[in-house]
Amino acid sequence: MSGTLQINQLVKRYGGLLATDHVSLSLAAGELHAIIGPNGAGKTTLIGQLGGEFPADTGSVTFDGVDITTLKPAQRALRGLARSYQITSVFPEFSVLENVALAMQAHCGHSFGFWKPMLRQPELVEPALLAIEQAGLTHRARTPVSELAHGERRQLELAMVLVAQPRLLLLDEPMAGMSHQESGKVVQLLQSLKGRYTMLLVEHDMDAVFALADRISVLVYGRIIASGTPEEIRANEEVRTAYLGDEVLPV
Ligand code: ATP
Repeated sequence: MSGTLQINQLVKRYGGLLATDHVSLSLAAGELHAIIGPNGAGKTTLIGQLGGEFPADTGSVTFDGVDITTLKPAQRALRGLARSYQITSVFPEFSVLENVALAMQAHCGHSFGFWKPMLRQPELVEPALLAIEQAGLTHRARTPVSELAHGERRQLELAMVLVAQPRLLLLDEPMAGMSHQESGKVVQLLQSLKGRYTMLLVEHDMDAVFALADRISVLVYGRIIASGTPEEIRANEEVRTAYLGDEVLPV
């Protein structure tokens, strides 16, 4: 299985501020690795650097042995590194299935007939239905996107990413703004995807992080202060100190 990621001494500066300060990290194929840290620690910046939105000032990123440091987001996506958040090209009046089929079409470029009705193209519909099933939305496949609940929209975003068959998923706060019940569903969903994809998860919901992660890295002021299994992180004094007054680590 592929989907390995090596992050080597990655730096992003905003003026005098080091948002990511020589971050190094390795993700094994199939691992779910969570990044946690107080507000402003640099988590979003790191995800942006891995997705290719923010070019690295220095350092490198290697994906399945290929140096992707200078690649644009679309080039990274084509290689199988996908970022799941804020899909901008959702058509609210179209169904879930149509939106995921469109994402498939966009991923494949012009190899499919634009003149044919989309839902009559099995090469689009079949992978779309599979991705919708993986995202737990089969019962809503024919529902217009405008009728989806907030949590279901996040599931749709995931389906639109999964349809491109990525090997590594960058998940930027997938539980943000969700009810307890909705985030429980997403935890279940990510649990079901574990091992099939390598996943890098940035999330403030500590219960979700500790339930899901194989390993956790703690980012504080742009630096990784600890990396380890959930048990090791929970027992780490420096980590506990960093979190005083912020999120509470689950016991
Ligand atoms: P949160 O958990 O609150 O989302 P975060 O860990 O994702 O925070 P970042 O958003 O990556 O942290 O921010 C890291 C640091 O970089 C913060 O001090 C932030 O103020 C700063 N920063 C982020 N974007 C910019 C920018 N465009 N210009 C200047 N400073 C920035």
